[in-house]
Amino acid sequence: MIVLPKTANTVIIGGGVLGASAAFHLTDAGQDDVVLIDRGPIASGTTPQAAGQTGYLNVDRFAFEFGKYCIEFFENFEQRTGHAIDFRQTGSLRVALTERFQHDLAARLKAAEELGHNVEFISSGRARELVPTFTPPDDCRILLIPRDGYVEPKSVAVAYAAAAKDRGATFQTRVEATGLVITNGRVAGVKTSEGTIETKWVVLAAGAWTRQFAQQLGLNLRAVPVRHQAYVTGPIAGVVPNQPIVRFTEPQIYVRHEAGGLLVGGYGYRPLSFDMNDFDRKFEISALEADPVYYQQLSAAARTFFPSLADATVVQERRGLPTISPDGRLVLSEPSGLRGLVVLSGCGVGGIDRSPGAGRIVADIICDRQPWIDPSVLSADRFGDNYATDASLRAQCEEIYAHHYHEIY
Ligand SMILES: Cc1cc2nc3c(=O)[nH]c(=O)nc-3n(C[C@H](O)[C@H](O)[C@H](O)COP(=O)(O)OP(=O)(O)OC[C@H]3O[C@@H](n4cnc5c(N)ncnc54)[C@H](O)[C@@H]3O)c2cc1C
Repeated sequence: MIVLPKTANTVIIGGGVLGASAAFHLTDAGQDDVVLIDRGPIASGTTPQAAGQTGYLNVDRFAFEFGKYCIEFFENFEQRTGHAIDFRQTGSLRVALTERFQHDLAARLKAAEELGHNVEFISSGRARELVPTFTPPDDCRILLIPRDGYVEPKSVAVAYAAAAKDRGATFQTRVEATGLVITNGRVAGVKTSEGTIETKWVVLAAGAWTRQFAQQLGLNLRAVPVRHQAYVTGPIAGVVPNQPIVRFTEPQIYVRHEAGGLLVGGYGYRPLSFDMNDFDRKFEISALEADPVYYQQLSAAARTFFPSLADATVVQERRGLPTISPDGRLVLSEPSGLRGLVVLSGCGVGGIDRSPGAGRIVADIICDRQPWIDPSVLSADRFGDNYATDASLRAQCEEIYAHHYHEIY
């Protein structure tokens, strides 16, 4: 039997990587009475489907500062939380084939150098040594970013949750939030499938369902779920566990080691957003249908640079619904007109990577602390009247998704 607390200081809706990070950062900041509810088990939405890659190097100063906190957090995860994760800091190779993106790599190198980070251009020959099954074209430019890596994504959410629990948070699974109690423009409680919890603060981190939940409150949250897909092959001769991730700016694909084989994902192929109102109420992310054409196009693009993929057996497909905003940034603030609600959405295909910084901003807002970074660029109100219709919003978010490796944020 579920015994739900009757009151809390903060209720977090959603136990994916973002909600779990918020729970950790809040309790770590000394907040007591934090309750996290999820309609399923912890980390059962899009989080476990991810490739788990980190990538902090950006030209945009906000994104770089934000990413710096995230990478340092992953490097010190056990020390910070008391729970280990398997962070494989293999580094990454960012590969640009055309002049436009070769300039982008040069700008990233400059930004890294200004902050004393060790990032360097390497030759195609050196790239082949590091990633033996990779056949880069001779005229490409390749940036080696040693601090990038990847994690097993579910383990990160589970570790945040365990750390939050150590610090006093309560987790209730199989409890669905159905609405909010609002008094005089301020949150006063959360209605759930198991009764109401009185609370002053709510963090809405319901992944693909966040926009839908916000709609019931009269809010037009500018972030929509967009399908992203990847696949994993069986073992391939020559693939080595410590090989860097390879990311191509064009075509937009990523390839990393996974259990002796390769994990391959990409952007730009048939972007498709969703309105969660069109799904059955009981829909779960694990039931999301594959787009076989996407997989074919992705695989064909990746085989150009990884010929051994042609004979490899696909042993797993991953797909889910990360949320995308019209400018590719997080949507993270108290929206105007409703005090006490903190929305946490628009993670892009980067919610694992961005989770430490996002959780820290949530804690700053709720604990009324001096912000560690100016979060105004993430404000839920920043779009004003733009993208107010579903059609314009979805079109713009699909466009942003389709150019994920081309944008600089
Ligand atoms: C194939 C693929 C590859 C990816 N690769 C990467 C990568 O390399 N690096 C990276 O950083 N990111 C990657 N991502 C993106 C990453 O997975 C997401 O950004 C992240 O997992 C989103 O986390 P979330 O907490 O917002 O959502 P979710 O993990 O979906 O969590 C939301 C939770 O809210 C719960 N919920 C919803 N509604 C309610 C309600 N009413 N009441 C209670 N609970 C509710 C759900 O049950 C769910 O558990 C990838 C995604 C995919 C699909």
